[in-house]
Amino acid sequence: MTAVNKVAIAGSGVAGLASAIQLAKAGVAVDVFELKPALSTRGSGISLQGNALRVFDALGAWDDIRAAGYPFEGLNLRAPGPDAPIVAELPDVKTGGPDYPAAMGMPRVELATILLEHARAAGARVHFDSKVTSIDARADDGVEVFVNGDSAGVYDLLIGADGLNSGVRDLIGIDTKPERNGMGIWRTFVSRPADVVRSELYYGGPVYIAGYTPTGEDSMYAFLVEKAEDRIGISDEEATRIMLDESRAYGGPWNDIRADLEAGAHANYTWFTKHVVPAPWNRGRVVIIGDAAHSCPPTIAQGAAQGLEDAFVLTELLTTRDHVDESLWDEFHARRLPRAQAVVEASSQLAQWQIDGNREADAGGLIFGIAQKMAQPA
Ligand SMILES: Cc1cc2nc3c(=O)[nH]c(=O)nc-3n(C[C@H](O)[C@H](O)[C@H](O)COP(=O)(O)OP(=O)(O)OC[C@H]3O[C@@H](n4cnc5c(N)ncnc54)[C@H](O)[C@@H]3O)c2cc1C
Repeated sequence: MTAVNKVAIAGSGVAGLASAIQLAKAGVAVDVFELKPALSTRGSGISLQGNALRVFDALGAWDDIRAAGYPFEGLNLRAPGPDAPIVAELPDVKTGGPDYPAAMGMPRVELATILLEHARAAGARVHFDSKVTSIDARADDGVEVFVNGDSAGVYDLLIGADGLNSGVRDLIGIDTKPERNGMGIWRTFVSRPADVVRSELYYGGPVYIAGYTPTGEDSMYAFLVEKAEDRIGISDEEATRIMLDESRAYGGPWNDIRADLEAGAHANYTWFTKHVVPAPWNRGRVVIIGDAAHSCPPTIAQGAAQGLEDAFVLTELLTTRDHVDESLWDEFHARRLPRAQAVVEASSQLAQWQIDGNREADAGGLIFGIAQKMAQPA
């Protein structure tokens, strides 16, 4: 018995596809509706901590993910300047336990492709060019879902895994929205110099944080975190020029990154946000998870991990209980909200210390404390 037989999911990001895999594996009929015409083929990389890797294993996708990424342990801190000296080598907490690496970098495109393949193999139907546009809640036991304006049918549950600007969140009347935290990030996807074998961060210099993470034998992503600027409408050439200029204070592997930028690597820009929707995340038979429910500056690289944990806990409850009732929602919120909130608060605090130029703050202690918390299963 499962608590649901037929589920609609808005959004094919990590939270939506992880939910689809778990539900479809348990025999639930799943329709994933994604407004984009296809998976994005362009994108940067992502850093996945052990607690995210543990969820991939539960999905049955770990072997494919491990093969497509670059596992590593530890974090190096370097100083600005032409030689980019390593000033600290920090150990990592294995937040997924001893069976998984502390962290892994991988190209976002490959992560999305693997999860899509697993969702389809499990039996979920994934529809692109399909925007969830409205809903009609049925008296307590279902929800009619409208896609591109037409009814797609009545479902036992709609999962709104539709990201930061969630339309499902609006449709169920939740008005908490992501707020900018005052930082923006330049990212580029480049080749990996042989001496980059783990994430490295540079504090000091013209931007708040410069850094990079290996994503494969031949690839890594690099980033510069700056005071948020209005970069809307900027040309590709101008984006590359700014990333080149702002990175000139950093030597070492940054010389190779600049060579790739000069050879045409694309630079993209995004603002950081933060928010946590207070409980409950559901209204009747509609629930939001992932970035729809919470977002944070990626200062501890836990955003996607938290969306994966939302999906894992929600689908565990839906597939092991007989009914969708208040006790299911109570357990879901008790297991997910404090944990997601702790990540958002710690990530935002780390970002704020950077903005304030606070060099005395115990950043290491905060990062260690949150990692210890994440090491407990969700
Ligand atoms: C700069 C930056 C760096 C980051 N780095 C990391 C990192 O290293 N590690 C980490 O763990 N996290 C990181 N994160 C966070 C991570 O990227 C997100 O938390 C995660 O991708 C969110 O996944 P999601 O499935 O909730 O939403 P999304 O990935 O945003 O997916 C939502 C999907 O829903 C679709 N959609 C929207 N509206 C509708 C609709 N009405 N109908 C149908 N479909 C719809 C969208 O097209 C989209 O495909 C970073 C975030 C940022 C901004």
